[in-house]
Amino acid sequence: MTAVLSQIPYSVLKPGGDAATALYIVAFSLFIIGVKRGTHPRTAKHGNMIAALGMAIAVLTTLLLDGIGNWGLIALGLGIGTAIGVIASIRVQMTEMPQMVALYNGVGGGAVALIAWSEIRHGISLGETISLEVLIPTLFAAVVGSVSFWGSNIAFAKLQDLIPTKPLAVPGQQVINALLVGAILAGCVDIVVNNGSPSQAVFIGVLIAAALLGNLVVLPIGGADMPVVISLLNAFTGLSAAAAGFALDNVVLIVAGTLVGSSGTILTMEMATAMNRSVANVLFAGFGGAPAAGAGGATEQRPYVSISAQDAAIKLAYADSVVIVPGYGLAVAQAQHAIKEVANELEKRGISVSYAIHPVAGRMPGHMNVLLAEADVPYEQLKEMDEINPEMPRTDVAVVIGANDVTNPAAKNDPDSPIAGMPIIEVDQAQQVIVIKRSMSPGFAGIDNDLFYEPNTSMLFDDAKKAAADIAAEIQQL
Ligand code: NDP
Repeated sequence: MTAVLSQIPYSVLKPGGDAATALYIVAFSLFIIGVKRGTHPRTAKHGNMIAALGMAIAVLTTLLLDGIGNWGLIALGLGIGTAIGVIASIRVQMTEMPQMVALYNGVGGGAVALIAWSEIRHGISLGETISLEVLIPTLFAAVVGSVSFWGSNIAFAKLQDLIPTKPLAVPGQQVINALLVGAILAGCVDIVVNNGSPSQAVFIGVLIAAALLGNLVVLPIGGADMPVVISLLNAFTGLSAAAAGFALDNVVLIVAGTLVGSSGTILTMEMATAMNRSVANVLFAGFGGAPAAGAGGATEQRPYVSISAQDAAIKLAYADSVVIVPGYGLAVAQAQHAIKEVANELEKRGISVSYAIHPVAGRMPGHMNVLLAEADVPYEQLKEMDEINPEMPRTDVAVVIGANDVTNPAAKNDPDSPIAGMPIIEVDQAQQVIVIKRSMSPGFAGIDNDLFYEPNTSMLFDDAKKAAADIAAEIQQL
């Protein structure tokens, strides 16, 4: 099979030739259109398909370049990769998306590091001096790609509970990290100085040091901060891919890598801003690994009001305006369709319903938008935090479903709170609040929520999907 495939003259495009360049321009234009369309929920799915088409054109163009060989191996790689990708995408749960992204991102970084290794081996086999324009981006791609691959693996393992999610401090961490950075720099300098006959062992040593650095940088970060770390590592992968593009003189890799690098950087900064934390605080503060003291259950002895689904239905059915605030628990319970049913019942009664979307509700950016879009919630009803907060004092009932930290008034009122300064959905300003969750347990930040003890708050303890279905059924009976 391999022998037969190898006989077929597939290599029809000249690397750097007009046809290949034109196809690459088409490919990266589609990436840019795809990213642009990805910025709105209504067009995001279409944008994803456009970007995927761009990627298919880029891959096919590359495969058709003169000099690409070993078709048997290429077909085998494509087959295995496609099978794993398709099965994983079908089976993954929405709540497991962050670790899926970590894996995909890591594999991208690993692929870039391997391409860099292959380039170095190629240079060694020819015994020729590699120009610095190629060698320096190659080394950059190798180091950053390796850091990204190994760091992403740790992020995946933490999110998948394969290793403890709490921050794992390694004794002498800073010194070890500094030594590893020193070793990487020394190895790279050695390769540049001995250009023409660089040592492959030194290059492998650089890859190993970068791998250890990737592991050691991510281990001390709490599992809860992993989405931010994944976004940052994603940006690293993009930068390493762009560097590989310079080394290989491949324009599509340069553009795609730059797009990933810049969008990953912007996303990282936006996530940190939405939590009112700096990226440095996320990386070095060991936040969110374990519940804070006093959290984790009903250890707080303040009184709160507990109600039934029937009570909640009555409060809602006689309101004029209702705001639904979804959070991570909505995703866990897959309650998006059930809460949409509640909204349908209320709208039948002429009650105005909208959904308040906090930028970091859930566990990944856009988490709530995706879930609610799946339940066909009209986009016009989705209100961003800045838009909905002024409406809160005029809202009759705010329904907090599976959300916790993003509604905690301590962020505004308690300067000593771990989430002090984080912008929140100000449900405490609404006339009445119904909080649907299973217990008094804290959310991601591991802290108690003052909202639960407010006089206008009622707690409905149940799984979000069951509670919403019960409320919808009760409203129908009224
Ligand atoms: P939280 O993690 O604060 O709270 C979720 C709540 O959902 C829990 O208190 C839990 O309470 C409840 N819950 C879990 N399962 C169910 C269920 N089956 N039915 C009903 N309730 C359930 O979520 P938020 O969305 O409010 O806040 C997101 C947090 O994640 C923020 O702190 C944010 O900083 C952080 N974060 C978000 C990122 C993002 O990109 N979105 C990235 C990184 C961090 P109980 O167990 O009692 O049911």
